[in-house]
Amino acid sequence: MEFNFSPTPQKAEPTGDQPVKVLVIGSGPAGLAAALYAARAELNPLVLTGMELHGQAALTNTIENYPGFPDGVGGAELGDLFQKQAERFGARVEFDTVESVDLSVRPFVVKAYNQVYQADTLIISTGASSNRLGVPGETELIGKGVSYCATCDGWFFKNKKVVVVGGGDSALEEALFLTRYASTVTVIHRRDALRAGAILQRRAAENSKVKFIYNAVVTDVIGSDAVTAVRLRDVKTGETREHPTDGVFIFIGHTPNTSLFKGQVDMDERGYIRTNSLMETNVPGVYAAGEVADPNFRQVITSAGMGAAAAMRAVHFLESSHSEKVTASV
Ligand code: NAP
Repeated sequence: MEFNFSPTPQKAEPTGDQPVKVLVIGSGPAGLAAALYAARAELNPLVLTGMELHGQAALTNTIENYPGFPDGVGGAELGDLFQKQAERFGARVEFDTVESVDLSVRPFVVKAYNQVYQADTLIISTGASSNRLGVPGETELIGKGVSYCATCDGWFFKNKKVVVVGGGDSALEEALFLTRYASTVTVIHRRDALRAGAILQRRAAENSKVKFIYNAVVTDVIGSDAVTAVRLRDVKTGETREHPTDGVFIFIGHTPNTSLFKGQVDMDERGYIRTNSLMETNVPGVYAAGEVADPNFRQVITSAGMGAAAAMRAVHFLESSHSEKVTASV
C-alpha cells in the first residue's frame, strides 16, 4: 500500500460572519468519525487536517484489527474511506494547520495557516506523536522495517528478527506481543535497569524469544529498501557495532499534540486532555477524542468511537443552546 501524504487541497469556503457549528481539528480516525456523525446531523462540520492527513493510522501498512475488513485494509486507504464517507454527508475537509485557538470567547476563534475560523463547538482530535529516536535512517525507513506500533505491523515480521527500543512498560508489552510472530525480539535499553513494572519484566525474562542488550543506544538505522541492521553504541565503553535485524520497533514514549491548547483546557500531567466519559472537556462546547485524550488504548477503533461520541455530544450541546435561546426570547 502506497502512503498518501498529498491531499488534494480544497479551497475553504469563507466562513464569513457565520461560525462553523462543529469544527474538528485533526483528520485521524477520531476526527473523521466525529465529522461523519456531525455531518449526518446536518451540521456541515469542517475538518482541519493538520500536516498529517489521516493521522498516525495512515502510516500503517495494513490494519487488520478494524472490524469490517476481514482481509485487512491499508492505513492510508482506510483514512481515505473515512474521509469519503464523512464528505458524502456534507463534511468539509480542509488541508489547513491550526496555529492558535482562543477558547475564552464565543464563538471560539481558531486561527489556521490559511484562514481564521469561528466555531460554536470544537472537537479536538490532534492525536499523539510517537517519540522518535532522531537518528539517521529512522524516518527514511518508516514502513520499511521501522515501526512504532507492534499491533499494526508485528504480523509482517513472522519468523524474522526484530529489535525493540525502550525499557518501559510499552517496550516490554510490545516486545512480548511481537514474540507471537518474530523469531527473536531483542530489547535495546539505554540503561542497565528496565523502567517497566515487575510483572512485565518477569514475563519478558521468562520468554525464550526475548533477549536484552543493556547500556546501548541506537545511533543509526541501516538499510536502503528495508532495514538490515541497527548501529549500537555502548554507553559505558563508547564502542559501536552493527546488530543485524529485520525490524526496529521504537517505544520510547508518546507526546500528545496538545501544545495549542495549553492553559485553555484541563490536561493531565503528561499533557493528555482530560475528558469525562462523554468526551467533554472542562470548557463547555469543547470535546476531545482519540489519542489526544487517550494514553491507554491508542487503536483506530477506540479513537473512532471517541470521535463519534464527541460529535453526538456536540450535537446535543448545540440543540440545548438553541432551545435555551428560543426559550429566552419568548
Ligand atoms: P515510559 O515509561 O516513559 O518509558 C520510555 C522508555 O523509553 C524508558 O525506558 C526510557 O529510558 C526510554 N527512552 C526514552 N527516550 C529514549 C531515547 N531517546 N533513547 C532510548 N531510550 C529512550 O513510556 P511507556 O513505556 O510508553 O509508558 C508510558 C506510560 O504508560 C507509563 O506510565 C507506563 O507505566 C504506562 N503503560 C503501562 C502499561 C501497562 O501497565 N501494561 C503498558 C504501557 C504503558 P529510561 O528508562 O532510561 O528513561
